[in-house]
Amino acid sequence: MSLMTTGEAETIDAAIEPPFTVCPKCAKETYGVLHVGLRAYLRACTDCQIKNGKLTSKPGFFALPKISKKVIYLDQNILSGIVKAFRPELRKGKMEAEVEQNWKLLFQKLDRLRKLQLIVCPFSIFHRRESFVASDPLRLRLKALYKRLSNFVEFGEQMDITAVQAYQYAKHSCDPLEPVFVGDPEQVTIGTVNSWERWSMKSVMTDYDWKPEYKGMLIEQNNNSEVEFQRIYSGWVDEKLPIEDRYTKEASGYGNEIRRVYTLKLMKQFPLTLPPAIAEKVNELWDEHPYIELIDNVYDLFSGGSEITNPLILRQVIDFLASEELQQNVPAIHIEPRLWAAVSKHAIAEKSARKTMKKGDPTDIAAIATYLPYCDAMIIDNAWKSELTSNPAKSEFQKYNTEIFSFNQMPKLMSYLEQIENSASSDHLRRIKEIYGEVEESDPFDAVSMKLYSQPIEETVSG
Ligand SMILES: [Zn+2]
Repeated sequence: MSLMTTGEAETIDAAIEPPFTVCPKCAKETYGVLHVGLRAYLRACTDCQIKNGKLTSKPGFFALPKISKKVIYLDQNILSGIVKAFRPELRKGKMEAEVEQNWKLLFQKLDRLRKLQLIVCPFSIFHRRESFVASDPLRLRLKALYKRLSNFVEFGEQMDITAVQAYQYAKHSCDPLEPVFVGDPEQVTIGTVNSWERWSMKSVMTDYDWKPEYKGMLIEQNNNSEVEFQRIYSGWVDEKLPIEDRYTKEASGYGNEIRRVYTLKLMKQFPLTLPPAIAEKVNELWDEHPYIELIDNVYDLFSGGSEITNPLILRQVIDFLASEELQQNVPAIHIEPRLWAAVSKHAIAEKSARKTMKKGDPTDIAAIATYLPYCDAMIIDNAWKSELTSNPAKSEFQKYNTEIFSFNQMPKLMSYLEQIENSASSDHLRRIKEIYGEVEESDPFDAVSMKLYSQPIEETVSG
């Protein structure tokens, strides 16, 4: 299955890869795969179609059927468990032999389903952020893993997705035929979810990475927000609000943010002399802020595209975006406070073991609230798994038909993944063999994978 494990080829000969079939022109078994695209692939012959490093005639074109992949979100601790199972030198503590075996089994199954074009595990800004602050040997392997399993599909950022959903609800409120919410992941991802996996296009290989200097800043930011969240958590312990009241209180956060952003925008537009503290906040607001765009787009919708800003309509737009009605109907807005409310339940429980907030809670909450409605399944932290499968979160999440698993439920998880493979038609499996060859198990961090998905690194690990 070389097509899926080698990178950008440097010559046309090298770009033509196995599996080879019989060439329709020269009848030799040298007719290989040149390129796999979204819905078609190309074959060319290494023997009769190349002269002086160039193709001498058009490659063969083969249309591919539409595919529908299951979208599975992997929490950062799943990625990290897999890396540590394959690379014992990166572990901090001990890993039982059985646990190590299970992580490896899980990876091989996910990777197999990916190669069979049955699943995609999109990565997100949360994977990027959490991996970026890790030590280099760990960071590069985490990256190699999330890139590999995602087929380079990345979920959009939280505020952007919130804005997409709020705008959809605004459309629904103008035209009831428009759905309240659209759960199609293609709407909120970069890259194509239901694409046949391809390597011969440079565009899918390009990637942004942050400057190394950013690492210190990010660590500081994480520490600050951790202190801030601990402060909030302690506040909950003192307040002891019933869970529904906690929900209502947390849910008002989005509306407040809309009003805040809009007030700053207004201040930016008028030549006022502002106190330095406020001026600083105004300057921090960038023009492409997703909520500014949202307000503008909803204004266009409500005003029918009027060029002149009508303050009455504008007022209506802001009130609508900050309304409880919107909060109730936009998943990204109402799931998050529900999860915060679930956490607060532990803060106020007399005999709770969770007297402090867990380090990863804010990230887990943001990722679940933002991506869950677009996923067929999520594999998450054990603690979050039990939060999501009991009330108050359970009744909410059932709406989206997202399966929730954690690593400590291996048999259930593996049987779910097995079912996905079993559901593949024989025709589909035949096409996989035709294009990609046999699916084989591999080491996710061998030299070829690291070069392709991450960047070359030394195999020796220090520190
Ligand atoms: Zn030929």
